[in-house]
Amino acid sequence: MTHAPIGAGAVRVTFLGTSSLLVRDERSAFLVDGFLSRPSLLRVAVGRIAPDPRRIDAALARCGIDRAEAVLVAHSHHDHAMDAPTVARRLGATLHGSPSTLQIGTGAGMAERSMRRFRHGDAIVIGAFRILVAEGVHSTPDRLPGMIDEPLRPPVRASRYREGGAFSFHVAHPDGTMLVHPSAGIAPHSFDDLAASVVYLGVGGIGRRSAREQRAYWRHVVTATGARLVVPVHWDDFGRSLAHPLQPFPRLLDRGDRALEMVDAMSTRDGLRWHLPAAFETIAPFAMVDDARD
Ligand SMILES: [Zn+2]
Repeated sequence: MTHAPIGAGAVRVTFLGTSSLLVRDERSAFLVDGFLSRPSLLRVAVGRIAPDPRRIDAALARCGIDRAEAVLVAHSHHDHAMDAPTVARRLGATLHGSPSTLQIGTGAGMAERSMRRFRHGDAIVIGAFRILVAEGVHSTPDRLPGMIDEPLRPPVRASRYREGGAFSFHVAHPDGTMLVHPSAGIAPHSFDDLAASVVYLGVGGIGRRSAREQRAYWRHVVTATGARLVVPVHWDDFGRSLAHPLQPFPRLLDRGDRALEMVDAMSTRDGLRWHLPAAFETIAPFAMVDDARD
């Protein structure tokens, strides 16, 4: 086989910056996070932030999507959760998340029936997708730990978006399996029993960890799942609009260059493929794995 055809049934994944993903097959669609407003880092540091409906609508239009079944939120920091209620309402989707995330939904005026709390070990079925929710640990340092314990009504300071538990999503589909691991926390052995041919690997903050910690992270996420394709996520400067090409996070705040060097070195060592996605780039990840096997 020279090429795995991207057929009508193939799963397609569109990268939307940070760990925001749009996942589709021919029948169903869901998002992870759906953070599309991306207020400036200055505003995040000293101002108040709120979803930006124009940026959200522009991004959804660029994806060519007007319906989705679900928005799954990895944790409740603003760069994951802030826009999720707005995106869910635009797309007629159910908002899935921790109690802290649902406080953001309530603050945005979402009805109870449009929100579902998830816990570690829950399975969410969306068409042919079966998604297992796995709670882990946030990358360190987590500058905003804790819970959101009352409805959050933006505009608010970014510091009001407390973590509320950090979750990963194992996605099983007849075409293949993938793990979406948004936050680069090292939770040893949490994925030892979860095979996945593709890992969307959060690399935020990992470039500043020691080489030993980086190897442990790789071992407990990539090696543990047996992945053949690694797609780094959360490597971009999320204070820039998606209307412009993605740029790495400022060096003062993170060392994304070192994180990607690590991904390259470890992929080469292990004979894996890795792919750095551009904003709005859509790939058929399982077809890429099939290609790599030839
Ligand atoms: Zn976070």
